[in-house]
Order: sequence, then structure tokens, then C-alpha cells
Amino acid sequence: MKILFVSPDPKPQRWITLLQAALPDAQWIVWHADLPPQQADYALVWQPPAELFEREPGLKALFNLGAGVDALLRLPALPRTLPIYRLEDAGMSAQMAEYLLHQIAEITRSMPVYRQQQQQQIWKMQPPCRRHEWPIGFLGLGHISQKAARLLQLLEYPVSCWSRSPKQLDGIHSYSDDNELPAFLKNTRILINTLPLTPETAGCLNQSLFTQLPPNSVLINVGRGQHLQEQDLLSALDSGTLQQAVLDVFATEPLPAEHPFWKHPKITLTPHMSAPTLREETVRQITDKLKALAQGLTITGEVDRQRGY
Ligand code: NAP
Repeated sequence: MKILFVSPDPKPQRWITLLQAALPDAQWIVWHADLPPQQADYALVWQPPAELFEREPGLKALFNLGAGVDALLRLPALPRTLPIYRLEDAGMSAQMAEYLLHQIAEITRSMPVYRQQQQQQIWKMQPPCRRHEWPIGFLGLGHISQKAARLLQLLEYPVSCWSRSPKQLDGIHSYSDDNELPAFLKNTRILINTLPLTPETAGCLNQSLFTQLPPNSVLINVGRGQHLQEQDLLSALDSGTLQQAVLDVFATEPLPAEHPFWKHPKITLTPHMSAPTLREETVRQITDKLKALAQGLTITGEVDRQRGY
């Protein structure tokens, strides 16, 4: 079995060492621009160049080195019927749960006020968090967000989700379909976007959505930057429709130096670090799937090209 590793990672050998150890019978090859055609069976990819598909027409499947496949599906050279497998959790959901809990506790437990008080040597307890005042709603409840939703529900926050299909998770109120979106938004004060970026979801974080949330709501975007209408967010923060926003993903990354988000007093931003791909977990998941394929078994995680995720 010949497998290409195709990624802009400047140190691909870190991956190859792990891949070879996990699947020693395979021939692992690092892709580079001058590599002649290899007649490879599979490719592990992140941001692959168009030439890959011209030079390797015999690929049986791609394994994406991330959960989101929006950039991959936008490639004009991507063969239409080539199966694509995305990462399913692979250590990302625990990181995401931790990130979200941290950001939410910052807000609901008045942590910025305590930091200010420390500077002034003020010993004063702020009003305790009344969880019922902070209902949390997840837009999308897939591999990345289910652990976070369960964790927050365990901590007795009211938690609900909105997804394409209804979910059955103990203690989590599930909404689905467009007709249930208004009721979901009305009952959400901390809105967490974990949707994949697809033609249907692009631009969904907009003024019309923000105005359906209760006053003083909070937006946390860990999906993709292109979900957010940036001007609508700035207006919603100025008008008080939204109290605060936490942004981990941006339409342009790195965020340009002159961008108004950097210094906005109501925006907390992080550089797309909420749930990065982890090498060991990723290698284990993909090599397990390759072994299963070699035994003629079916594997999970295939991207549905129609739905776009
Ligand atoms: P997933 O398992 O495919 O889950 C996607 C969820 O979104 C599902 O609940 C799905 O509904 C729902 N959904 C998709 N399109 C919808 C629509 N049009 N209307 C309503 N619901 C819709 O994906 P995942 O692994 O959780 O990852 C989600 C996204 O998170 C990725 O695509 C990526 O963009 C982002 N992400 C960000 C980071 C980061 O570091 N910031 C890390 C990893 C992933 P159904 O369940 O009904 O299909």
C-alpha cells in the first residue's frame, strides 16, 4: 500500500515516524512539488495542491487531517467521486470542551472583574452565577461539541442544541430544522457555533439571528470565520443586542493587524487554537481505518458531498 502525506507542515518527518510505526507494511511518501507520480493508493491531506489530483489519478480515498472539509471541497481540481474521510474527534472534543468551559466560566463567574479587583487589592465577592440565567445553545452538535454539551449540562447549565437531525442526549433539549431555530434562539443566552462551513451555513451568524437571542447574549464562534457577518457582529455589540463575543476562527487567518476585532472591548479572540489536530491521536485513527479498509471492512467518517460535511 502506497500512501502520500500531503501537508504544508514544515516538519513532515514528525508525522512519518509515527505513521511508519503504526503501519509499517505501508510505503509512506512525503509529497513535494517535484515528486514524480507515485501511483499512490491513499493520501493524508491538509490544504493539498491541485497537482496532487493530476499526478495521482489512482487514489482510492483521501484522509483529511482535520474535522472541517470546507477548504478541501472548494478545490476545483478535487475529483468528484473520490471518497473523503474527515477526522472524527481524534482528541479534539476534549480540547474543545475545556476551551468552552474556560470561556464560559470567564463570563458567568465575573473573572475579568476579579482580575481588576486584584490590581486594586479589593477583596469583594461578586454575585454568584445563577445558571438558569445562562442557557447555553449549540449550533450543530457533532463530534466536536457533544463532550462540551454533556460537560456543561453536568455542571447544571441549561443546555440545548440545534442540528439538522434531532438528537437524543440526556438532559439536553434538541431542536432541529429551520422551523425550530427561532425557539432555540429564544431559549439561548450563550450561543456556541460548531457548525461545519457549507453553502447552507455560510454567513448564518448575522443580524437576523442575533436579534432573535435574548438581550445581553454572548456569541462564541469556534466553527469557521465565514459563518460570521463581521459588520453585523460589530453592530450587535454596539447596540447591546450582544453583550460579548468570543472568537477563535476568522474569515482571514491570521487576523489582519488593522482589523477592528483586535482591540474591541467586547471581543475576546484566540488564534484558532480551541481544538487543534493532535498528531498521535490522528495517526492512530487514520491508520486504524486504513487497516480496516485493507481487511475489506467499512469505516466511518466519510464526507457526504451533497451535504458538504
Ligand atoms: P460533525 O460531526 O459533522 O457535526 C456537525 C454538526 O452540525 C451536526 O450536528 C450536524 O447536524 C450540524 N449541521 C450541519 N449542517 C447543518 C445545517 N445546515 N443545519 C443544521 N445543522 C447542521 O462535525 P464536527 O466534527 O462536530 O465539526 C464541526 C466543525 O467544527 C468543523 O466542520 C470545523 O469547521 C469546526 N472545528 C473547529 C475547530 C477549531 O479549532 N476551532 C476544530 C475542529 C472543528 P446532523 O448531526 O443532523 O448531521
